[in-house]
Amino acid sequence: MRTSGSREHQVVVVGGGFGGLQAVSNLRRAPVEITLLDRRNFHLFQPLTYQVATGALSPGEIAYPLRAIFKRDRNVRVLLAEVADIDLDARELHLRSVAAVPAPERLAYDTLIVAGGSHYSYFGHEDWRMHAAEVKSLESALAVRSRLLAAFEAAETEPNAEARETWLTFVVVGAGPTGVEMAGQIAELARDTLRRDFRAIDPRGARILLVEAADRVLTSFPPSLSAKAERSLQRLGVTVLTGRTVIGIDAAGVMLESRERGEERIASRAVVWAAGVTASGLAGRLAELTGTERDPAGRVTVESDLTLPGHPEVFAIGDMVRVRDVDGEPVVLPGVAPVAMQQGRYAAGVVRARLRGREHGVFNYRDKGNLATIGRAAAVADIKGLRLSGFLAWATWLIVHLWYLIGFQNRLLVLIRWSFSFVTHGRGARLITGASTNSEQR
Ligand SMILES: Cc1cc2nc3c(=O)[nH]c(=O)nc-3n(C[C@H](O)[C@H](O)[C@H](O)COP(=O)(O)OP(=O)(O)OC[C@H]3O[C@@H](n4cnc5c(N)ncnc54)[C@H](O)[C@@H]3O)c2cc1C
Repeated sequence: MRTSGSREHQVVVVGGGFGGLQAVSNLRRAPVEITLLDRRNFHLFQPLTYQVATGALSPGEIAYPLRAIFKRDRNVRVLLAEVADIDLDARELHLRSVAAVPAPERLAYDTLIVAGGSHYSYFGHEDWRMHAAEVKSLESALAVRSRLLAAFEAAETEPNAEARETWLTFVVVGAGPTGVEMAGQIAELARDTLRRDFRAIDPRGARILLVEAADRVLTSFPPSLSAKAERSLQRLGVTVLTGRTVIGIDAAGVMLESRERGEERIASRAVVWAAGVTASGLAGRLAELTGTERDPAGRVTVESDLTLPGHPEVFAIGDMVRVRDVDGEPVVLPGVAPVAMQQGRYAAGVVRARLRGREHGVFNYRDKGNLATIGRAAAVADIKGLRLSGFLAWATWLIVHLWYLIGFQNRLLVLIRWSFSFVTHGRGARLITGASTNSEQR
């Protein structure tokens, strides 16, 4: 393994998300100098951003400063900057500054671990983004929160019945775990939390529509659990529209198409996007530089040890990759945190093994199961063939999410918040923030 002169081996990790964090954590005791680089100064616990979007949690409770996570590790340096380009031959990253914070132009590495994640794609319709916000980043979750709460405010002062109904129609696109969770939370917000807050409208009359192109919700779960999840959603007052493809979104609503019903328009001012994701642009750049294949979702194909073909010093992990199995066939693993975390740990293990001059086996994903929550005491879980629903699945979901949340203080705060909300049905963070709310919607 290359090290220049007498200096320590330089490992650069791009991305302080689930994959990057595990890579750094598992290297901090190794004889290496690590630079963790991210365009954000915090780790975001994405599985709970939808709770920020519906006022159940505050941003600070699901984000944690990267510097604070590694403050005791003298060999870990955190750098706020964005990767603009990668020079694989020179083994250098080209950086761009973020938030006007000066950043070095170039950063050299001996080993590079890229964990740039993914972002929501609008199936080639970027113009939909401004009308259908998503909940991947903290900023977009806050924009969704403002949009949802502002819709109730607008309905309260709207004299026209039809326009009022439009304000009180909420559409969630995509019935994967995030869409299901989002629809369930909007329903609870309307039926429970806001029930007594207004004078002219009854928030319980709000329509919450969950639109899905497939023939069932939660397609990554067995059909029996999808059916249970759908029944739970219906109990909460969510209307599930399966077999419908979104063909248009504008400021006044959504256009759907289905085989049975043809085209139908739904008037709504509050549309949330929880459909397809596409890999980080870094995946595309790495594929271009190495002539490696990408799949339709933009994931770069890495070898079975998570390195780029021809570049054993460069690992790519997490949402932005698909991995070749031992037979050389590319395999798409689920876009979930455990995959990224296991890959981060694995990449760190390979680096440690190489430094000791040892061999390392190929990456194998251990699937620990699938969880999705729908609402209060309602969830589904598929854990190694054990199928749970209702309270037991919800309790499992709760424990797992608290366990993986970064920072003891955050765990405690979220536990207190959830316990308080469970008893009172309240949501303390129902704030409309940002100057854009009105002009964006009208
Ligand atoms: C709303 C939502 C809910 C989810 N719920 C669940 C769930 O319940 N359970 C579950 O297991 N998974 C869930 N996931 C999926 C899970 O969050 C991802 O699979 C996981 O975050 C992937 O980890 P990663 O390290 O690949 O990328 P990320 O965690 O997304 O991290 C990528 C990091 O790279 C940084 N970055 C990107 N590009 C650059 C650049 N050019 N320069 C510098 N930094 C850069 C980003 O700022 C970010 O910090 C959810 C995802 C979303 C969006």
